[in-house]
Amino acid sequence: MFTTYQSKLFERTMLVSGVDKFVFSRPDDAQWNFQAGQYMIFHIPQGTEHAARRQYSIASTPSEKRYLEFIIGYIPKGIASTYLPLMKIGDLLTMQGPAGVFIHRPSPRPAIYLATGTGIAPMFSMISDKLADQSFTQNIYLYWGLRYYNDIYYLDYLINLKNKYPQRFEFCICLSRETDIEAKVKKEHIPFCTCGHVNTGVEMMLQKIQKTHKEFDYYLCGSMIVVESLRVYCADKGVVKEQVAFEKFTF
Ligand SMILES: Cc1cc2nc3c(=O)[nH]c(=O)nc-3n(C[C@H](O)[C@H](O)[C@H](O)COP(=O)(O)OP(=O)(O)OC[C@H]3O[C@@H](n4cnc5c(N)ncnc54)[C@H](O)[C@@H]3O)c2cc1C
Repeated sequence: MFTTYQSKLFERTMLVSGVDKFVFSRPDDAQWNFQAGQYMIFHIPQGTEHAARRQYSIASTPSEKRYLEFIIGYIPKGIASTYLPLMKIGDLLTMQGPAGVFIHRPSPRPAIYLATGTGIAPMFSMISDKLADQSFTQNIYLYWGLRYYNDIYYLDYLINLKNKYPQRFEFCICLSRETDIEAKVKKEHIPFCTCGHVNTGVEMMLQKIQKTHKEFDYYLCGSMIVVESLRVYCADKGVVKEQVAFEKFTF
């Protein structure tokens, strides 16, 4: 059984077209408790007795106890996608949770995080949490798949994380619909972007550091189709399923 909470919309910010950041507090200013990687179940009112339920991964870290942050992509005519952008600051929303088992597993191996689109949400929480964990000294590699350079958000956040943990954190944004990084991407962002899909980024990194796929743990998040294809990719590379954790954003 999950706990049911009243939450209060504290902030909503457009990140890029069709993707907003939502920040919720608790009306009584009580604290949130969850594990990095978990999600909350939003109750979306529909004007009937039964609310529609939609899951959203928590993007903020467990150390931030006053607020829960979410990264939400809108689907044309979707129930939550229609309701959430109309919410005003201070509006209340019922949510349940925290839920889900997409959390860190104890392991001595370095970890590769593969996300597409808003599948990055739990990864922000997990990666920040793990880097701050002094008992985990392994490296963390993030490959985030988006279509275009203009789809990127939170780049400064990732660059700051990279600057804070230069030896332990690498990330690359893999742009599947861009063909010329030099022409499209700002000069200072070029080191963090590549053309292609997330597996392209992984291959490049492994070649550079002369390691094999099997030497890493994997955390996968995104749409069902993408996560399934990444699981096949890991299996094809000989990674055992115990080293692969995933969250599918089912639609
Ligand atoms: C564990 C979990 C965590 C999730 N975390 C996040 C998150 O952090 N951020 C986030 O943005 N979403 C997340 N999702 C997806 C989210 O729960 C909703 O499914 C999504 O926001 C669409 O809800 P909706 O009510 O607007 O659309 P619905 O009313 O459910 O859907 C309307 C129609 O659009 C189709 N559809 C729904 N989504 C898509 C899509 N992406 N692409 C194409 N067609 C679609 C549906 O099949 C349906 O036909 C998560 C899902 C799961 C299971």
